[in-house]
Amino acid sequence: MYTQYKHEPFTDFSKEENQKDFLAALEVVKADIGKDYPLIIDGKEVMSGEWLPSINPAKTSETIGRVAKAGTAEIDAAFAAAKKAFPAWSKTSPTARAELLFRAAAIMRRRKHELSATVVKEAGKPWVEADIEVAEGIDFLEYYGRQMIELKDGKKIESRDGESNQYIYTSAGVAVTIPPWNFSAAIMAGTTVAPLVAGNTVLLKPAEPTPIIAAKFVDILREAGVPDGVINFVPGEPHEIGDYLVDHKDTALITFTGSKATGLRILERAAKVQEGQHHLKRVLAEMGGKDTVVVAEDADIDIAVNAIVTAAFNFSGQKCSAGSRAVIHESIYDEVAKRVVEETKKLTLGDPEKYENYLGPVINQKAYDKVTGYIEVGKDEAELLTGDNSSSETGYFIEPTIFGNAAHDARIMKEEIFGPVLALSKAASYEEAIDVANNTEYGLTGAVISRNVDYLEYAKQNFHVGNLYFNRNCTGAIVGYHPFGGFKLSGTDSKAGGPDYLLQYLLPKSISQML
Ligand code: GLU
Repeated sequence: MYTQYKHEPFTDFSKEENQKDFLAALEVVKADIGKDYPLIIDGKEVMSGEWLPSINPAKTSETIGRVAKAGTAEIDAAFAAAKKAFPAWSKTSPTARAELLFRAAAIMRRRKHELSATVVKEAGKPWVEADIEVAEGIDFLEYYGRQMIELKDGKKIESRDGESNQYIYTSAGVAVTIPPWNFSAAIMAGTTVAPLVAGNTVLLKPAEPTPIIAAKFVDILREAGVPDGVINFVPGEPHEIGDYLVDHKDTALITFTGSKATGLRILERAAKVQEGQHHLKRVLAEMGGKDTVVVAEDADIDIAVNAIVTAAFNFSGQKCSAGSRAVIHESIYDEVAKRVVEETKKLTLGDPEKYENYLGPVINQKAYDKVTGYIEVGKDEAELLTGDNSSSETGYFIEPTIFGNAAHDARIMKEEIFGPVLALSKAASYEEAIDVANNTEYGLTGAVISRNVDYLEYAKQNFHVGNLYFNRNCTGAIVGYHPFGGFKLSGTDSKAGGPDYLLQYLLPKSISQML
């Protein structure tokens, strides 16, 4: 009845007609500059009178639009609406819920360039990556929809003579979705529709730098037919409403992607049972990473160089999966380092509205200050090979920066920077390189460049990360192909886009009937 899931194709921008279409989509987005977007509570548009501006990080003089800001009164109203909508939505057939996702995916496909262009403007993401991201958003809808259909009759358990047993999945209640700005379309969409298709009702609080793409997505869900109260849109300042959403007695599930500090705070607060709360809250938290490309002495140098450069500098390193360090066998270190620097110097930095720019800005002043601060740390700790040229005059631009000969325990080797900063380090043996790769509190992604089967087997057993890649870079997981999530303090290892993901939003119910 439904086609087999396949990931959405990426746009080939080497074709002139695709470039033309994308430029036209950017014009559509520009025509909307200055627009105001309401809260959505119980299917109604609500203006709170307070605003959250969305600023173009490549041109800080440009406010793209404003979204209405929710305070605690609006959050209470959204919880009331979500609670009211829950009984009917959770009893709606899983297939009908999945079909709403398929319909929303079709609308997204029709508006694909416009949505990607919104990400370019709002998140400062270059065309190619914005396009891949919106494709990923569509993938989440298609994949989770099919997964819910697979789970609709539960799973098989045993029965005995005179006894019929059943194991089914039921919905949990009201979910709070707190997505990140770095995948403001994909992860926002995925972590909204997963609880939703599982029959929960949702309060979506978008990341504060990127609320407009989320406002557009909520409109798409409503156009697809998601009923009133099932999806509520409540943008706001984390310091005003973050704890309130997490602490609320009616919160059943929290799905969060963002910093380690916030993730740990959510886990701790959600553990406390509030007055009037008769359930335990479940938390999915995907947090940071300090991810490594390990280059063995037998590595194909071209593959190694490409893996290191793309893992470090795609979207200016603003991914928890970014390969912000490479540990290279000392016998080939000089050659690899030289080639990595050469390739990096070819990367163009500038306004992501222009197709030719490989890197855009970092997201905001706070990120700019943090990343440039780490560049200063790097200058004390290691050898500056290229970069260290930044300006926040018109937008938050940081040149890709590489440090060489970094000590294994240097701060730039162990702390998450979340920007275009790469540390290169030597190892005397492959085993030592894997030890270094494991030397942080994180365990999200990693790559090994080698054809040696013993090395790859060794990495399978000893490289302690949730997503391990061989002979490629360590970013760019695809829904349904590379389920994504990390070990250690990288998070709860929820494996977004994987076969077990939806189970985390469902309550299994065991039913036994005497015949
Ligand atoms: N899923 C993304 C990837 O594989 C990273 C997600 C994130 O940075 O939050 O690159």
